[in-house]
This record gives sequence, C-alpha cells and structure tokens, in this order.
Amino acid sequence: MHLLLPGPTPIPDAVKQAMLASMTDHRGTAFETVQSRVQNGLKALFGADSPDHVAVLPAAGTGGLEAVVQNLFRPNDRVLVVESGLFGRRFSEVARAHQLDVDRMEFTWGEAFRPEEILARIASGPYRGVLVTHNETSTGVLNPVEELGDLIQQLADPPLFVIDSISGVPSIPLTVQNGIDVIIAASQKGFMCPPGLAMVALSDRARSAVLASRTGRFYFDLTPYLNGKLPYTPAISLWYGLDAALELLQDEGADARLARHQLLRDMVRAYGQAGGLPPFVSDRFASPTVTALEMPSSMNASQFRRQLEQSGLQIAGGLGEWHHRAIRIGHVGAVDAGDLWAGLGLMAPHLPHPHKALEAAVRVYSASAANPTQPRREAR
Ligand SMILES: *Cc1c(COP(=O)(O)O)cnc(C)c1O
Repeated sequence: MHLLLPGPTPIPDAVKQAMLASMTDHRGTAFETVQSRVQNGLKALFGADSPDHVAVLPAAGTGGLEAVVQNLFRPNDRVLVVESGLFGRRFSEVARAHQLDVDRMEFTWGEAFRPEEILARIASGPYRGVLVTHNETSTGVLNPVEELGDLIQQLADPPLFVIDSISGVPSIPLTVQNGIDVIIAASQKGFMCPPGLAMVALSDRARSAVLASRTGRFYFDLTPYLNGKLPYTPAISLWYGLDAALELLQDEGADARLARHQLLRDMVRAYGQAGGLPPFVSDRFASPTVTALEMPSSMNASQFRRQLEQSGLQIAGGLGEWHHRAIRIGHVGAVDAGDLWAGLGLMAPHLPHPHKALEAAVRVYSASAANPTQPRREAR
C-alpha cells in the first residue's frame, strides 16, 4: 500500500532492517551504545543542552503530551492552551484531565495563531504554562511558534512554553531554544518509524522544573529518563529503528529536509487547485507536512478514499468539523517527490480535472531547485 498519510508514514528500508535485529539485554553494553547514540542524535536534532534533556518514552504521541502535563504542572496550575483544530483541543483535554486550571484561546480553524494576541493574553495572567500546537494536523496549518517563543522569552517571568510538534519536527526543524521550553514528537510521523515512541525535549529551565518534584506520576515520571536511565523495559526494536532513522535524518540535514517538504506541499497545493480540489488553507499558513483539500459538493470524501484504497493509495479523511468537506494528504517523513508523484498519479483519474492537476504539479516540480536532489536516496 502506498501511504500519503500524516501518520503512520512510510518506513525506509534501513529502518525496517534495523528493527529485525535480535533482542539484547537492555541493561547490557550493546544496548547502552544504541541508547547513547539515540540520545546524542536527539540532543543534536532538538538543539538541547545535553542528552539528558531528551526523553524517549514507550507511548503514542498523546502519551508524550500527558507525560509533559504530569511532569511540568500540578493540579490547579493555570495554563493557557491555544487551539485552532482538533489537536489543540486534545491538548486542552489532557490538561483538564490532570486538573490544571485551563484557559482556552481559540483561533479560527484553517488559520495560524497570532503571536501578539497570545502575548496580550499571557500578560493578563499569570500563567504557569502556554501549550500550543506547532503543526495543526487536522487542518494543515503551520503556526509561527518561533515568533511566539521570541516574544515569550522577553517577558520578565515567562511561562513554560510547551509545543506539540508531533506532525512537525523533524520534517519541520524546531529546537528547544529561544524561549521554547518543551517539544513533543512521535516516532510514526517525521521520524519515519512505526508508532510506539514519544520523544520529549526540554530546555534547561523545563528540565529543572521536572526534577523539582516527583508527585502525581509514576510510569511517565521523566526523572530517571532525564538522568540517563530507562526505568522499565524499553521498546527495544523501536529504539533500533530510531537509531537508523536518526542516521538518515542527519545525512539529509535540516535545511534540505525542510526544502523537500516545502516542495511536496507546493506540488500538492498546485495539483489540488488546478484539479478541482482547492486547498482549504491559504498559502501563508500552509503546512509543509500535511495538506487539506476541499471536496466539491458533487464528490463524496469517503467514497473517494475507498476508490483510492482500491488503487493502492491511502490518504486521510477530514477531521472534526472538516470531516465531510476535506481530504488530507500527508507528506511528512520519508516521502520524496517520486513517492508523491506515484500518489498524485493514482489519484488523478478520480479528480474533476486530472490533466490540469498533473500539469500544475509538473510546473511546480520543474521550477524547483529541489527537484534534482533527493538527498535521502542518494545518501544510501
Ligand atoms: C498525530 C498527532 C497527535 C497524536 O499522536 P498519537 O501518536 O496518535 O497519540 C497529536 N498531535 C498532533 C499534532 C498530531 O499530528
């Protein structure tokens, strides 16, 4: 099956092969080497101060969100959650489930948040934390989190700034620097691995906040992880996969990676626009990793997806309020222009204007400086 999903994403052969290795004692020296390579690789990728500022947990991405809420905050702590889609809403639910005093700030679905407005709201605080979504996967919007981090770090007593970047980093590079305190990621999106690992990267300030208290958590207590220990049996095979994936990510480099995803985004948007399924989100908010396209009223989204599945292609449906109106094309993780071409080709016969769609994508592809370079494949 060919996947153009915002998770799970395709797994490169090198990662698949790494995961076939035999089990080893997770307290033994062989695994210690893997662990140290992974922690150091994540430290570099997240721009963290040390390998002990990064934790890898056996969990889906949501487990990472919950771990951060449990470790950084206490019941009744006042936090601001910024929502503009389904995943922002989920972050609020996690915070409320742990009895935080949650203030929600909503932006229109399909638009990015506006940092100055959030800053004004923070000024009406005080807040212990600000929780936002980097790349809102339900709508395909990229939020200007770095801009907000710059503003927050200028405050006299800045709240802890926490970012769900599960469908962002590392396809969209982001570091725990310049006012950003916590980044949460997951293995099955930009990390090109199967589902099952959540990564949490912390600033030094956030790490100290975690270590300052140990109540209200057990399995997800980050304290041992932030002291180089894995308290329970780790998902060993997934660690092998992550180890191999980090090598691929390092080979490609952050700039080339972002350029690749931006090209994929531009191709999908041009294809949809010309083909009769216009992008939901305007150019300036468009995510490099997932694109929502609007279905014409003459077409049925679930039927469309069923037909594609019969041709060997899986794409995602609309989420939440966009359920009946949108489809979502994922181009996160190990997807290059060749992979995207295969998907666009399989989809074309089902579009109102197949020929125009493909022509438009060809124009974008040919004009792009990124097209002759497919660094991930060439590096092998
Ligand atoms: C996928 C996703 C999640 C949820 O990840 P799970 O691994 O399914 O728990 C949360 N937030 C964002 C932004 C996502 O894209």
